[in-house]
Amino acid sequence: MHKGSCLCGAVEYEIAGPLGPVVYCHCSRCRKASGSAFNAMSPVSAADFRIVKGQECLRDYRNSAGVNRVFCGMCGSPIIGKRDSAPEIVRVRIGTLDTPVNSQVSSHVFAGSKASWDEILDHAPQYEERP
Ligand SMILES: [Zn+2]
Ligand SMILES: [Zn+2]
Repeated sequence: MHKGSCLCGAVEYEIAGPLGPVVYCHCSRCRKASGSAFNAMSPVSAADFRIVKGQECLRDYRNSAGVNRVFCGMCGSPIIGKRDSAPEIVRVRIGTLDTPVNSQVSSHVFAGSKASWDEILDHAPQYEERP
């Protein structure tokens, strides 16, 4: 069981199953959404993911490509991403986890559009876009 929460503590969530591989997405949209060099995420089964507190605080931003980014409306912490094309998966923003993550980054996606000031120094595979 994994647990996570947003910066202000209004939103808490639980994941009843295992985390998927840790992926860093360097695309320009994820950089905007995170305010950082990349979005660190892990896919989990939507059936295993549950908001336990603060559902009413959640806001979302859906783009024209059917990608929905869900965040805390009080503090702005990104919580999950969902795709209309894969509703059975939620991509948890693992920086909001409170429980330990026992795996390292498995791959870098959209490395071709990473920030010029970001240097990828680990040995995980890098993909221009998606694998
Ligand atoms: Zn919050
Ligand atoms: Zn991205």
